[in-house]
Amino acid sequence: MNQIWIRNGLVWTGGDEPRVLSGGVLCQNGIIEAVGPDSELSKTTQGAEVIDAGGRLITPGFINAHMHLYSTFARGLPPKGLPPENFVEILEQLWWPLDRVLTLENLEPSAEVALLDALRAGVTTIIDHHASNGAIEGSLDVLARAAAKFGLRLSTCYEVSDRDGQEKMTAGIRENLRFARAAKDDPMLAAMFGLHASFTLSDDTLGACATAGRENDLPFHVHVAEAAPDAEDARRRGYEGALTRLHTRGVITGKSLAIHCVRTSPEEWKLLKKAGAYAIHNPQSNMNNAVGTAPVKEMIAAGLRVGIGTDGMEADVREELRAAFLLGHHLTGDPRTMWAEVDSLLRTNRHIASGLFGTRLGELKKGAAADVVVYNYRPPTAFEPGNFLGHLLFGFCRSPARDVVVAGRTRLLSGQPVDIDTAEVAARAQEEARKLWNRF
Ligand SMILES: [Zn+2]
Repeated sequence: MNQIWIRNGLVWTGGDEPRVLSGGVLCQNGIIEAVGPDSELSKTTQGAEVIDAGGRLITPGFINAHMHLYSTFARGLPPKGLPPENFVEILEQLWWPLDRVLTLENLEPSAEVALLDALRAGVTTIIDHHASNGAIEGSLDVLARAAAKFGLRLSTCYEVSDRDGQEKMTAGIRENLRFARAAKDDPMLAAMFGLHASFTLSDDTLGACATAGRENDLPFHVHVAEAAPDAEDARRRGYEGALTRLHTRGVITGKSLAIHCVRTSPEEWKLLKKAGAYAIHNPQSNMNNAVGTAPVKEMIAAGLRVGIGTDGMEADVREELRAAFLLGHHLTGDPRTMWAEVDSLLRTNRHIASGLFGTRLGELKKGAAADVVVYNYRPPTAFEPGNFLGHLLFGFCRSPARDVVVAGRTRLLSGQPVDIDTAEVAARAQEEARKLWNRF
C-alpha cells in the first residue's frame, strides 16, 4: 500500500462545497483516503510517507484548460519582418513559421520548461493544444513523455489546419487518432481532437474531422473567433459567425472546448450550451494580441460553462485567474463584479478535467484523485471558505508550490522537483532553442 500523509497544514478542499480545516490529507494508492485533523488521520496512517506542511496552505492541484506547451521557444524571438499589426499577422509572422520549423528534438525541451513552470505553480493538469507542422507524426507522444517525466496529467491534441496544404492536414488528423489510441489506457493522459480555427479549415476538412472525432468518441478542442477575421470569414461563408459554422459542421459536441469566443453572439452561445460544450477564457493572451476579450460575465449569466486557460502565455493558471478578475473590473467599471465569475471559472475547469480524465480532479475529498499542493503560503489573515478567492487573487497567486503530489506520487518536495535535474532542463532548452531560432 502506497500512502502519503500531508499533515500540519491549512486545508482548502475545493469542490462544490469547499471547506477549510486545520490538518491534512491522506493519499492512498493514488486516491484521497481522508481529509481531516491530524489527530484523526494519524489513526489510519500505516508507514505513510509524511510531508509536514508547517502551517502552510494545502489545496487541490490547479487545472489549466488551454495551453500550448510548444510555445516556450517563442520567448524573446522577434516575429519575422515588420512588427505584426494585427492578430493574423502575429500568426503569419510568429506562430506559423515557428511551428513549421519545430522538430521532435526541439519539442521535448520546449515542453519541459513549461511543465517545470506548471509543477512549481501547483498546476497538476494541463489541457494542451499542439501544432508542429514541421514534425507532426509522433509529436503528441513527445509531449506525453515529457509530462510523464514530471508526473503531470496531460490532455493533448493536434491542431488540424488547411494552412499548409492537404498533406499536413491529413497528417494532423492521423496524429489525433494515433495518439487517442496510444493514450487510451494511461490514466495520466486524455486525448481530444484538435483543430486550429474556422478560418483555416475548409468544409471538407471540417467534415473529415467531425467524422473522425465522432467515430472515436473524441471531444474537439478548437480556437473560436479569437479575433474579428475568424468571425468575418465565417460570415462571408454564410454563417452567423465562426461558432455557428463549427457547430453546423459537427465539431462543437459534448465536452468540446471552444477557445476564446471573443467575437461570438448570445445567439451562438445557445449552440454551445445546447451541445454541452465549454467556452475557455484566456484574458492575458487576448490582451497581448489586442483582440478584445470574451464577455465572460454575460456568458456565465447566460448559463454557459466557461473555463480558463493560459494559451501559452505562462503555465500558472492562478495568474490567469487574477488577470480575468482585474480585466473584468476594468471592462465593467464595477468593482463588485467577477468574484462569482472567477469562482465559476475554477469550478468549470474542474468539471472539464474530471470529465476528460474520468476521475475526480480539483477537489480534496475521499475518493478524488490524490493531486495535492502545499503552497509556500501561511495566510496572514483569517482564512475561511468564503474568502478563498481574496487569498488567491491578492496573496498566494504569487506563492510558489512547495510540495506537489500527483496521483499519489510526490513530484515536488521542499521546492525541488523529484528526479529532475532543473539545470539540465534549462541547458537543453537553451541549446535546442538556438537551433530552432537558426531555422526560423
Ligand atoms: Zn490557443
